[in-house]
Amino acid sequence: MAVSPITRRTLLAGTASTAAALSLPFSEAAASSPATSQAPSIYRYKLGDYELTAIHDGVWNRKIDASFVRGAAWSDVQKAMADAYMPEPGTLPIPFTALLVNTGAKLLLIDTGSGGQMTATAGSLVDNLAAAGVKPKDIDTIAISHFHPDHINGIKTKDDALVFSNAEIMVPADELRFFMDDGNLSRASDSVRGVFLNARRVFKTIEKTVTPFTPGKEIVLGVTPLAAPGHTPGHVVFALASGNASMMVLSDTTNRPELFARHPEWQPVFDMDGPLAVANRKHLLDRVSADRMLVQSYYFPFPACGHIARDGAGYAYVPSQWNPTL
Ligand SMILES: [Zn+2]
Repeated sequence: MAVSPITRRTLLAGTASTAAALSLPFSEAAASSPATSQAPSIYRYKLGDYELTAIHDGVWNRKIDASFVRGAAWSDVQKAMADAYMPEPGTLPIPFTALLVNTGAKLLLIDTGSGGQMTATAGSLVDNLAAAGVKPKDIDTIAISHFHPDHINGIKTKDDALVFSNAEIMVPADELRFFMDDGNLSRASDSVRGVFLNARRVFKTIEKTVTPFTPGKEIVLGVTPLAAPGHTPGHVVFALASGNASMMVLSDTTNRPELFARHPEWQPVFDMDGPLAVANRKHLLDRVSADRMLVQSYYFPFPACGHIARDGAGYAYVPSQWNPTL
């Protein structure tokens, strides 16, 4: 059966008689100024005895073209974006969500957002922390998943001042070693060179005070980084456990799930070692789906927590439902 498209006229035609019958008092409707900003973007949930808070930093509306994904036809990428109802062809909205973990004894922040230094539509992490009742000086520990700017730029202001003044900053040892190595910098391609220079801007003055960590060893009670290289050489995910509950913080294992969980073999331009990133992506998505494990992921739509389900040759993201209680 042919279905005629809904136009403004046909949509209104269907409601006109209803409105007339109800005699809606349109003329008496109270005037209200439109809000010009979004509500604070935080979302709390529990993992065992731990309280977790998703802290939104904003969205990077990244212009993309055929060079954005290796291993896929541009038409297939565009179709996946259209299937996900992304609002503008050629623009990939990439949201940033960090995770605050309150263990009861420590306040741990996993990744720090863009610091307002990447795009005008991101940089709200500190404001959203405030909405969660947390000041930067309250953070005890920062754990960094890897050195891309959207994860580390929040450590410092544009003027080189530390934002989280009391926090121990913990970073993957392999990532620190790789990006501080002058030989690696000299061999870097143009696209990666900026990542090196930015990482050095953030870490050069604090390199001696940061704490390098080794994957597989707990860094805070119940929080264990796991090696997941490929996206960057030292990229890690975090296994979280409290009581009998556990979850996986996937960091940048996938970019937008509608593209890269759906098609785990696709390689976004941000993956420095594409084949290794694909192998780790498949391994991790397979594990969290088989174990029906709660996941958090930096680029999933806010509040960026839910589950991963096997779906054909790929995986689908199943968002958590908003839970009004804890
Ligand atoms: Zn990244």
